Amino acid sequence: MFRCDCGERLLLPARKCGGCGARVVFDAAQQRLRPIREGEEPRLCANANEIAQCNWLSEPGARPAAAATANGNGGSRPLCRACLLTRLVPASRAKRAIAARQKFERAKKRLLVALMRLRLFPQYAFANGIHLEINLMEDSRDNPAVAEDWVPTGHSAGVITINAREADRAALELARQEFGEKYRTLLGHLRHESGHYFWHALVQPNAARLDAFRELFGDERRDYGEALRRYYALPPRRRNRPNPEFIAPYAASHPHEDWAESWAHFLHLEDALSVARDLNLIPPPQPADDFSVRLRQWLETAEIINEMCESLGLRRAYPFSPSGKAAEKMRFISELAQHLSPAPQTIIPALLKNEPPAN
Ligand SMILES: [Zn+2]
Ligand SMILES: [Zn+2]
Ligand SMILES: [Zn+2]
Repeated sequence: MFRCDCGERLLLPARKCGGCGARVVFDAAQQRLRPIREGEEPRLCANANEIAQCNWLSEPGARPAAAATANGNGGSRPLCRACLLTRLVPASRAKRAIAARQKFERAKKRLLVALMRLRLFPQYAFANGIHLEINLMEDSRDNPAVAEDWVPTGHSAGVITINAREADRAALELARQEFGEKYRTLLGHLRHESGHYFWHALVQPNAARLDAFRELFGDERRDYGEALRRYYALPPRRRNRPNPEFIAPYAASHPHEDWAESWAHFLHLEDALSVARDLNLIPPPQPADDFSVRLRQWLETAEIINEMCESLGLRRAYPFSPSGKAAEKMRFISELAQHLSPAPQTIIPALLKNEPPAN
């Protein structure tokens, strides 16, 4: 848990202490939120401006923002660990684009802090010949000045792309209804797409892990395009019929999607439990706790959250209850993340040397 010098609890995405009013920064090297101390001149990220609202400290020696084309803040100060991962953001200064950017940065940082706790970031941000990049893009449906007619949210060769529409509450809700989904959020998308990245980084290059993965999730060499076409051709009622083998209906479309959905739910669980611990809702973790303890804690906590939502006239926040094979898949991911050997290199030295990839 993060605490201010005044004793007040600091929770993500704090930018200011609620107790003493101190400005709060995220120190990625120490993996903690902390107040700026008197007389300190913090090395703030070049994106510490009104648009990106970054409050992370910059990486010592990181390339300056001016080199990161689309971050476009022109400053000569270096970027932070989170902003270094992002090459493309909307250039538009329209209110809609700025709001999308702010929600994106907030969700991206929540994803990264959870990955830090799991020692996956920055340790595995370069692996198996790919490196993690997380971009936000508009398409011409929202901004006629953009060349792309349609930008799909997805992952390809380490690059996660989020369509800026996924940051728009009304567009999210429309898409959720159109696909008959129980849950659709920007953070959920980021967690899901990060699952595709980590599959390539951690599972694909390791024969034993790949065998174990295929045993549980199926053979990912199955034709992906065909599988998705078949999935979307089903009438929504059949597509969304609950199946205890899968955490969510979309997971049934292909083993890759099953993995990414299970990964996203594993991160939901890990992050929500860490918040629950910070708020003293559940006890601190014990060394002997295995995944089933954490799953039970999460399901009990989620039930409380869901009932509170009902009492406020809101939709149930976590309308899932993984059990059986769906829970086994989450356990597989949890154990894989727990038993990784320390990564031989970190992203930071590599990113410092690398120029950002060309547009
Ligand atoms: Zn304080
Ligand atoms: Zn930053
Ligand atoms: Zn996917």
